Amino acid sequence: MEKREQLYEGKAKKVFATDEENAVIVSYKDDATAFDGAKKGTIVGKGVVNNKMSNFLMQILEKQGVKTHYVQELNDRETVVKKVEIVPLEVIIRNISAGSFARNYGVEEGIVFDEPTIEFSYKNDDLHDPLINAYHAVALKLATKDEINKIKEMAFKVNDVLKEYFLGLGVKLVDFKLEFGKTADGEIVLADEISPDTCRFWDKDTNEKLDKDRFRRDMGGVEDAYKEMMKRVFGE
Ligand code: UDP
Repeated sequence: MEKREQLYEGKAKKVFATDEENAVIVSYKDDATAFDGAKKGTIVGKGVVNNKMSNFLMQILEKQGVKTHYVQELNDRETVVKKVEIVPLEVIIRNISAGSFARNYGVEEGIVFDEPTIEFSYKNDDLHDPLINAYHAVALKLATKDEINKIKEMAFKVNDVLKEYFLGLGVKLVDFKLEFGKTADGEIVLADEISPDTCRFWDKDTNEKLDKDRFRRDMGGVEDAYKEMMKRVFGE
């Protein structure tokens, strides 16, 4: 596979064309942003952790019947993925209260829910990714009703698989954000990444934060948290 011109540069990744029409190469950067881009920084080694962890998790999910964009890892930071049209929705699943949920509803972090929750944000930088419901998303033609139902079903399946997987590593999967894409033949697949940038991970016994919240909240130990998650997933 040949790497061609850069198609896009986002906050944490670059995307390159390839000599294959239906494949692109994603390249993970160490750049970190938070609070709608207001906070910027670098997390040394993050790109490697996110690339490798995301690829590994997507392969676990594929085995459990969840279709993903994953094709092939090229090196520490680069991966071939299916070219998809991203559905402009951030899909957030929560098992435990934290972050905006705790803030918006005036509750503490750490409340364990009886059932996971789902919510959508409209991926639109000018509007600052507002919360949106499924009816509004369909009205705006961001996705069809069938696609939204498929996305919901896939997102809860991802949660079932990953919640159990991480618990086995002594990690609580508190909440996470997913993005989905549509392939050339119209299939909805899991896209983007699953990493400490997009998930909240708490140690099962101590509730120590092992994710990007350490960067968002200036807690220090950011690189070590990413390294620790890498260690839990891949061993030494
Ligand atoms: N999240 C993300 N990208 C975003 C917003 C949220 O990956 O643009 C993830 C975040 O890491 C967390 C989950 O989605 O695991 C829920 O985030 P929340 O809505 O609580 O937002 P925050 O507290 O970060 O404002």
